[in-house]
Amino acid sequence: LPTVGILGGGQLARMLALAAAPLGIRTLAVDATADACAGQVSGLVVAAWDDEAALAEFARQVDVVTFDFENVPAATAERLAGRVDVFPNPRALAVAQDRLSEKTLFRESGLNTPEFAVVDTRDDLVAAVGRIGLPAILKTRRLGYDGKGQFRLKAPADIDAAWAALGDAASGHGLILEAFVPFDRELSVLAVRGRDGAFRTWPLTRNWHVDGVLSLSLAPAPGTSDALEQEAVAHARAIAERLDYVGVFALELFVRGNELLGNEMAPRVHNSGHWTIEGAHTSQFENHIRAVLGLPLGDTGVRGASAMLNWIGEMPDPAPVLSVADGHWHDYGKEARPGRKVGHATICATDAGSLRAKLVEVGAALGREGQVAPAVEALG
Ligand code: ATP
Ligand code: MG
Ligand code: MG
Repeated sequence: LPTVGILGGGQLARMLALAAAPLGIRTLAVDATADACAGQVSGLVVAAWDDEAALAEFARQVDVVTFDFENVPAATAERLAGRVDVFPNPRALAVAQDRLSEKTLFRESGLNTPEFAVVDTRDDLVAAVGRIGLPAILKTRRLGYDGKGQFRLKAPADIDAAWAALGDAASGHGLILEAFVPFDRELSVLAVRGRDGAFRTWPLTRNWHVDGVLSLSLAPAPGTSDALEQEAVAHARAIAERLDYVGVFALELFVRGNELLGNEMAPRVHNSGHWTIEGAHTSQFENHIRAVLGLPLGDTGVRGASAMLNWIGEMPDPAPVLSVADGHWHDYGKEARPGRKVGHATICATDAGSLRAKLVEVGAALGREGQVAPAVEALG
């Protein structure tokens, strides 16, 4: 049996392991903590990224290495790449780890981005605010996720608070100031590229974030024109080809009028693609496993319309979701903690109208009308 090694042992590794099993493929995850939730369904090595001996032994046990987590040190990925195939390749990982190189790549491949400026000092921040204007968002170039490492500036008086919050990170690995985009919608392109260059995308997903964390996704994104979809897919393809990318990735986009702006890319399976487990012929997790092993890619077509609700901080009562036809429950087996992604639900339906009705029902039964409301409105 082939074994896929996964750097990181969170819920993404867990769902990769669950998708690999029916194909007769084993997984072995590496994580610094022994209670990493992938370990409940996958082999798990407990080691730090700089534990060379443990990682060398891990490399001997696996046929290919991939990621559940994009912030693995580039040096770790490169050392492993000297011993075993690593997909996506360490250069693609390195580009996607740094918001500056990521945005530079987007612009070079023809995808516009929000205006941005590099900030290494407080003076840089003052100058960047002068040039870009407000509102704006100050972000760490590296290591941010789920809206962490970000500060929103509304008025010049916020500069002090922003610098107090993130100035330390500036000396470490730099900051970037981005214009705040008053976008109409947020979309993601979920794409997969095979070792042979084969490229496929799932239909565009519409996403809603609360406090910088994904709350709700809807796919196929209602009301998206074919032209916009084709443009988004062409950008994803161009980026993947420039990086010689192998595996699944997500390209997060802002839509403003008819314009697409690139926010960031995730060099891995992505939260906005969880609906593909039940809503598509092949899930993002299965296609990632297929891609990194050089197997043929599966059909990315959909069975109907799907909505995904993220559970953050605590798991709600599963009964309302389990009671609705084509409702699916995912509990990651993680300890509940504020702000932590602990599970999700996916509701599928044959058409937008019946998905809307199911969301109204589930939202009311859970007392989470507010969480489902944007999807209910978009499907109306
Ligand atoms: P992820 O968990 O997706 O990796 P992250 O911490 O890398 O998140 P971003 O994707 O940069 O964070 O930002 C999180 C959310 O904050 C975005 O999806 C969007 O809703 C909002 N946001 C970020 N940057 C901007 C911007 N320049 N203008 C408007 N909204 C923004
Ligand atoms: Mg991110
Ligand atoms: Mg994001």
